[in-house]
Formats: sequence, C-alpha cells, structure tokens
Amino acid sequence: MLSQVPTQDACLSCGACCAFFRVSFYWAEGLHMPEHYTEPVTAVYSCMAGTNQPQPRCVALAGEIGRQVSCGMYEARSSSCKEVQIADAQCNKARAAYGMIPFTALDMPAPVNDDDFNQVS
Ligand code: SF4
Ligand code: SF4
Repeated sequence: MLSQVPTQDACLSCGACCAFFRVSFYWAEGLHMPEHYTEPVTAVYSCMAGTNQPQPRCVALAGEIGRQVSCGMYEARSSSCKEVQIADAQCNKARAAYGMIPFTALDMPAPVNDDDFNQVS
C-alpha cells in the first residue's frame, strides 16, 4: 500500500483524528478546559464537544481538514488527544477516512553521538 513518511509538523496539515473519533476522557480532565468545549457522555466520562455525533468534529479544531488546521486548546488538550500519535493505527484510520495517504511508522533509534555536534554553515 502507498504510504509516506510524516514530517514533524504533519498534524498541522491534517486534523483527521480530531474529526473522526469520539474524544472522551475522565470527566475531571474537563475542569481544565473551557466549559463549552466539553460535553457529558456518562456520569464519569466527558468528551470534546462535537465529537459524540455521527460526523464528529471537535469544536476546538479550526481550519480545513487535510489542508491547514489548529487546535484551539492545544496546551490543555485531553489525554485522549495526546494518545493518538502520528503514524499509529488510529492516526492512519482517521487519515484514511478523509482520503489521505497513511503514514509509515519510523522506528528511529535515539541519537547517541550528537553531544559534540557543531553545525558548520
Ligand atoms: S490523524 Fe495523525 S497526522 Fe492527522 S492530526 Fe491526527 S495524529 Fe496528526
Ligand atoms: S482538543 Fe484539539 S487535539 Fe483534541 S480533538 Fe480537539 S482539536 Fe483535536
């Protein structure tokens, strides 16, 4: 299957996972979020407003999916938001739903010899 290697800022031109899943979390996480950004799901779970519906889209997501997006509460986003990682199964499932090419997961070893690296221009 055709796939591509993600860039570090790949999410800024995607946003698919913010408009595909119900983004739910333990209700107390919502105490740190603007009230209109959350909705109750059960007695103990809340979700990002707009994501508990047949065509989900988080109300905090601004922009056009697949072109340019931003999160209106990135620093305060939920643990569920943080769980999705670029190129993981959820990421690629959401991307596929929007007709975007899946990302190839890279298993990069941690750099071990950069300490004395000096860039020469
Ligand atoms: S679907 Fe993947 S690439 Fe797109 S915003 Fe979510 S984590 Fe980023
Ligand atoms: S809070 Fe931000 S990161 Fe989380 S689903 Fe909404 S737009 Fe996406």
